[in-house]
Amino acid sequence: MSNITVPPRTRSAGMRTIDIHAHITDPEVLVATHNHSVFSGFGAIPRPSRPTLDAQVQDPKVHLADQIARRVDLAVLVHSTVHQPTGWAELETQLRLTRRMNDVMLGWVAHAPDRFIGSIIPTLADMATAIAELERYAAAGLRLVEAPARVGEYLGHPNFWPFWDAAQRLKLPVFIHPEGTSDPWFQNYSLWNSLGQSFEESKVMASLIYEGTLDKFPDVQIVMAHGGGYFPHNMGRVDRNVAKPAAMKNITLAPSTYLRRFHYDSCLYDPIALKNLIERVGADRVVLGSDFPFGEMDPMLSIEALDIPDSALPLIAHKNMERLLGL
Ligand SMILES: [Zn+2]
Repeated sequence: MSNITVPPRTRSAGMRTIDIHAHITDPEVLVATHNHSVFSGFGAIPRPSRPTLDAQVQDPKVHLADQIARRVDLAVLVHSTVHQPTGWAELETQLRLTRRMNDVMLGWVAHAPDRFIGSIIPTLADMATAIAELERYAAAGLRLVEAPARVGEYLGHPNFWPFWDAAQRLKLPVFIHPEGTSDPWFQNYSLWNSLGQSFEESKVMASLIYEGTLDKFPDVQIVMAHGGGYFPHNMGRVDRNVAKPAAMKNITLAPSTYLRRFHYDSCLYDPIALKNLIERVGADRVVLGSDFPFGEMDPMLSIEALDIPDSALPLIAHKNMERLLGL
């Protein structure tokens, strides 16, 4: 327990909460991936000593005590891939790392199966391997997939269609959380985190729409981390380009039509942007995301502070995630 205290909820007091964005890490994978991570400047910055934070993400007992203090009933656990990315690795290494992370995830779920929901990190370097791993870990009890924005290409590229086909067939929702931009400019002023993640989210959403991937896999469910970044807030400029044949090579509808094909976590840190997101895509498309232990401790507090109808609160707090996960 790391002495977390949060103010009481008011409008959503006693309401069930499901947090889709609770990170864990694994010490062994961190050592193997640190020099490839955006967090380390791709090897320029040594790993800092953060014992309290490490305990929160590496010890299920500490994580669960904090989860209870944060009044989160059910946490969807996802590996922190900005600290332990795998997209850089050749197939054999990637499979070794992702398998380690998925096995670690199974251990966490076994620790508190009524409190933790586990996600699968896919091996996207090879589609046959990715599909086999999805099948293996879905059968073992992991309930969704955590995917990066890109592995070489962004995930809408036809190279990844076998992965999307498998996610659709296995009814595994996919939470897209970027590993971080490789553009060195974003290393200035920690912009990889403040701006870069939102660019990566916008690029992968554009890729999924414009490549025709969402049309090809109509039943696949995608949840975007960090509210989908900039993408949902710039539809005027995007839709204006439907007049250009190049923009519409693979799709027939305006890109804004696809906004409701995604779900979005609430991790935006900006009440104006969050309210705008909810009004644009609908409260039935927004889910609670804290980015624990880096973000808001009780993300429901910023939801209930918004000027939105009471009827929106249970959708965001738990009902949308229950629908996505079939709970
Ligand atoms: Zn995160």
